[in-house]
Amino acid sequence: RAKSAGGNRFELADPEADARAITRHGLTTALPAALERGEFFIEYQPLVHLGDGSVRGAEALVRWLHPQHGVLGPDRFIPLAEHTGLIVPLGRWVLEQSVRQARAWRERNADAGPFRINVNLSPCQLTHPGLVQDTVEILERAGVQPDALCLEVTESALIGADDDLLKPLRRLAEMGVDIALDDFGTGYSNLANLRRLPVSILKLDRSFTQSMQRFPADPVDLKIVEGIVSLAHSLDLTVTVEGVETGAQAEQLRILGCDTAQGWYYARPGPPERLHELALVDATG
Ligand code: C2E
Ligand code: MG
Ligand code: MG
Ligand code: MG
Repeated sequence: RAKSAGGNRFELADPEADARAITRHGLTTALPAALERGEFFIEYQPLVHLGDGSVRGAEALVRWLHPQHGVLGPDRFIPLAEHTGLIVPLGRWVLEQSVRQARAWRERNADAGPFRINVNLSPCQLTHPGLVQDTVEILERAGVQPDALCLEVTESALIGADDDLLKPLRRLAEMGVDIALDDFGTGYSNLANLRRLPVSILKLDRSFTQSMQRFPADPVDLKIVEGIVSLAHSLDLTVTVEGVETGAQAEQLRILGCDTAQGWYYARPGPPERLHELALVDATG
């Protein structure tokens, strides 16, 4: 900050920025050993059908139990892992764990409907040549059908994507893997562009959900969500909303036609056992 404000004449010390840089550096160099030592773990957040309230799946969200800093959220280390390339083996690990979890869930809840696991993909994983092969192998090893997996890619990662970038996603989509466009509505992408992408799910960004919090909600916000939902449905896309924190938001989004929801109102991300408990609640009404 001091640098940009004062041109190149002064360099004021900013101890906080220094500390952040040191931590960042320390975390970056610790990443590979952390993966070896098993310091990462995954929390699962249920995806709930807005029509009947049933749990239809869960999103896998990675965390790092750092020996000194405690539990770190993905925003603290995913960018670092992307920068060093460690995101490729880390992402593969997340995928493997999550797919196995989906299998365990199905085995324990044989009477429940189809259950899908959502896994986030970084742009670096998209350009990695092993993506399709790794995914196929992981599914086969776990005995899980491709249609039980949904890969989430952010809208910004696909903006201006050329055919080379879309090819692996197309392959996966042809196999039956669902592709979701994550954080939709934040990336200023051309809506017409959606037709070109091999996606079957739109995940509406939390900012839309937040605007439903005010009562009465801004009529323009309502119109925008309504428009996105109807466009999505006309393109055969399913709409999931993230960041639902209140019953009023859930109700509003349901009325607007959204299909699935995710958020603290239903459950915070948690250990896999919690998903089993939720399923039991469902089954017994
Ligand atoms: P995302 O994929 O958009 O995930 C949703 C984020 O919203 C999660 O944050 C989740 O904990 C949070 N969230 C869920 N419900 C609510 C709510 O009701 N209110 C609020 N305020 N927040 C809610 P989290 O776990 O910190 O993850 C942040 C981001 O890190 C994710 O955003 C995703 O982009 C990335 N990420 C997480 N796991 C992975 C991973 O395994 N691989 C990659 N490449 N990225 C990951
Ligand atoms: Mg996501
Ligand atoms: Mg999201
Ligand atoms: Mg988000």
